[in-house]
Amino acid sequence: MGVLEVKNVGKRFGGLQALGNVNLSVKENTVHAIIGPNGAGKSTLLNCLIGKLIPDTGSVMFDGQSVLGRKPHEINQMGISRVFQTPEIFGDLTVFENVMIPIFAKRDGAFRMHAYESVSNERDITEAAERMLEDVNMLDKRHVQASSLSRGDKRRLEMAMCLSQEPKLLLLDEPTAGMARADTNNTIDLLKEIKAKRNITMAIIEHDMHVVFSLAERITVLAQGTPLVEDTPANIKGHPKVREAYLGE
Ligand code: ADP
Ligand code: MG
Repeated sequence: MGVLEVKNVGKRFGGLQALGNVNLSVKENTVHAIIGPNGAGKSTLLNCLIGKLIPDTGSVMFDGQSVLGRKPHEINQMGISRVFQTPEIFGDLTVFENVMIPIFAKRDGAFRMHAYESVSNERDITEAAERMLEDVNMLDKRHVQASSLSRGDKRRLEMAMCLSQEPKLLLLDEPTAGMARADTNNTIDLLKEIKAKRNITMAIIEHDMHVVFSLAERITVLAQGTPLVEDTPANIKGHPKVREAYLGE
């Protein structure tokens, strides 16, 4: 059983079957890439996982619980965090203040739900924020205003904000889209560092094959709303169907 189990998911937009019959199992602690040509249904699938879309058919189980019918913030509280294409940070605030926000939000959410309080006082919050910044090598920049950070550092900060929610599953939608090679490599290194330091599962939608083959342990190829094949990067590279449908050979 994977930490994320997608079974027979279908989604139609009017006359268009965006997702046919998607089965996907993401194993705990792995980096799983979902690749496929434009219009294959990658973003639609991701939106079905985070509650932005509700599939017409099938089930989505995370950590043994169904996410279907839950609102995005509820799914977030279950332990799924999403990293966007453009880093979502607060430019007017310092690096440190940015990281404090999700930590406060998590505490508030836990309090309202009468669940646990992993962060119980201000000292804990400060320490938690520092730990997150250390994890992404940004502790020395904690007093810097976020808007003045480099693109790579903005991505690092966003990742720290994401990690401070202590997600079990990190969803990344083309995290290097539009980046220059240096920033792309910086992001690859960052994700590798995070993976090495934490028990975290990552599902990454990515166009850039350099990123996919640098990070992924499993790859699912989506074509026309249906998984074509799921395998290791080495096998995907040589797979005739994949070459034909995706790599254009
Ligand atoms: P990908 O992310 O793999 O490029 P998408 O999931 O964005 O693919 O889109 C899959 C198909 O569904 C495309 O044909 C796209 O035009 C269509 N589509 C996506 N979102 C919507 C929507 N909200 N309404 C209508 N059609 C959509
Ligand atoms: Mg997309």
